[in-house]
Amino acid sequence: MLSFSPPPVTLGTMASPLKSLVIDDNRYQEAFHLFLERSSEHQCMRDFIQKKLPDILASIGDGKSQLNVIGVGSGAGEIDLEMLSELHQKHPKVMVDNEVVEPSSQQLHNYKVLVSQKPELNYAKFTWNKMTASEFEEQWKLKKMTKKADFIHMIQMLYYVKDPGATISFFQSLLDKNGKILIILVSGASGWGKLWRTYRTQLCNTEISQCVTTGDIKSFLDSKGVNYQSYELLSQMDITECFTEGDRKGELLLDFLTEALNFSKTASPELKAGVLKLLRHPDCSVEDKGRVIFNNNLGVIVIDQQT
Ligand code: SAH
Repeated sequence: MLSFSPPPVTLGTMASPLKSLVIDDNRYQEAFHLFLERSSEHQCMRDFIQKKLPDILASIGDGKSQLNVIGVGSGAGEIDLEMLSELHQKHPKVMVDNEVVEPSSQQLHNYKVLVSQKPELNYAKFTWNKMTASEFEEQWKLKKMTKKADFIHMIQMLYYVKDPGATISFFQSLLDKNGKILIILVSGASGWGKLWRTYRTQLCNTEISQCVTTGDIKSFLDSKGVNYQSYELLSQMDITECFTEGDRKGELLLDFLTEALNFSKTASPELKAGVLKLLRHPDCSVEDKGRVIFNNNLGVIVIDQQT
């Protein structure tokens, strides 16, 4: 069937012609992988998981013999498994029921491979949900599930839901006594925050991805009167390649930063020039030995089950 689609318009306040990077899972995964290579993203999470998470997890479970965990947007599971290992050390006699919610079949496959390589995970049972957070919510309600969760984490994924506040509220409703939700997103005070605040209307108005920081989540929780603890994690990202015209890796990193598919080729020249200028502005980056180092600081929010 023929369908008519109007030509993209780039003038004034008309809708952005940019497509979201997440609609192309292959390119998204490639960009994410490069981002992990160029940044201290996972290293700063690992530090937090080893130094702070054990105390956070100490009080969950309320003495039960099984802990229910839900990971939302787990990716390839590297970070999830680090958290499970800390959880196991804190609660060594307890079985763990781990629900994984991840829509990318490639990532889910990578996660399964990782699990198969770790026989020490014999304390954990995995349930694989190849679906988005909202599909999971729909199924959960449809099946009238009464299972409660002790630990739910959403790490770098709330950008990809339509309504981050509603998603948090749903998962809050699943928390058992003493249960906790861990959220990690870029910090409002990071280069990402500055980039997104400046270009929100051009970069962030797609249905499937949006520019949300822990600053936004804190405002939402404050408005709902929800108590939480928060932490800032220092992290950096080397974005030097973004400034070499035509550099393939630079273009991938730019896609990741703007969350736009083929940003270099599809953005208007004005938008592209503005974004590149802002990316190396002191509000976003520092220059060090000829490298441009972007502020990739993360924010962590821990929500307790509210009694
Ligand atoms: N938590 C991992 C991966 C973060 S990347 C880490 O920090 O390393 C974001 C992940 O969210 C990707 O694996 C992507 O496939 C997944 N995702 C995208 N849209 C989603 C949605 N609507 N619901 C749940 N997960 C989603």
